[in-house]
Amino acid sequence: LITPEIIDFLEKYKFTVELSLDGNEIANNLNRPFLDGTGSYKNITKNLKELYKRAHHLVAIAVLSPLSAPYIYESSKHVMDELGIKNFVISMDYTGKWTEKDLMILKEQYELLSEWYLEKTRKGDSLFYYSLFDIHIAAHVRGGFKPGSFCDVGRNIYAVAEDGRIFPCVRFAGKPVKAAKYLLGDVRTGLNMRSCKEISDENLKERTECKGCALDGRCITYCPCLNWDTTGKFNSVSGLLCAHESMIVPLADKLAKTLYEEKDPVFMRKHYKKKIEKVSELEIGGNNE
Ligand code: SF4
Ligand code: SF4
Repeated sequence: LITPEIIDFLEKYKFTVELSLDGNEIANNLNRPFLDGTGSYKNITKNLKELYKRAHHLVAIAVLSPLSAPYIYESSKHVMDELGIKNFVISMDYTGKWTEKDLMILKEQYELLSEWYLEKTRKGDSLFYYSLFDIHIAAHVRGGFKPGSFCDVGRNIYAVAEDGRIFPCVRFAGKPVKAAKYLLGDVRTGLNMRSCKEISDENLKERTECKGCALDGRCITYCPCLNWDTTGKFNSVSGLLCAHESMIVPLADKLAKTLYEEKDPVFMRKHYKKKIEKVSELEIGGNNE
């Protein structure tokens, strides 16, 4: 997939590369088989070393499904410790068919991962960004997620579908029939400012299910396309998201408390520097270290 010619092009134009890689070979191949059933891991990672060396900014992005969940601990170690990628973003597939047993397995994996994150931070080799914990720690440090503060669809974020129509984000653009009422314009005729305002207003509404919850502002409830895809509304949160966030936020808090009390230099630099370093700065620093 990543040929030398493509790497030349990405380097020349300083592209930020987001590489879909769902973890180690087993996890990735379970999630991302080719049509003939064979796995895509070897194809994805074939020229990875060269890409990582020359890409302006590279992030590995994994989808966490019930199939790959049992491997997320090994997968995270593989991507970050073995492949050396310093920025790993993991997004749960909230539209997947998760069972209670899957979630119990995931919880066990997260507990192992919290130990790994702690040791990896204490080792202090370099900055790294591990979204599962770091995003929730950052939310606390910055005073909590608020509708619009992390995602401002209709005002600052747009996605263009293949046919030129403009939607609030890629998930809408990828489902243009379901998202027809969220159309914001067309590249040939421009934006419909009234629709943009309606979308923005809807996104800025309070997440009603979270009112009064101790974790309000700590959970990833701000993503309107995820909420829309799972509940039909921008400001309504799915039960699965709530269950997942209730599992991960306490682990992130425990880690943060430990590392804060230790005044761990990597942790403090990542989360408490006066000017918080952007993920891209973390990544560039990581690449060049
Ligand atoms: S735990 Fe559930 S109800 Fe509470 S803030 Fe998070 S998503 Fe909302
Ligand atoms: S994925 Fe969600 S949070 Fe991110 S830009 Fe799209 S709507 Fe906003």
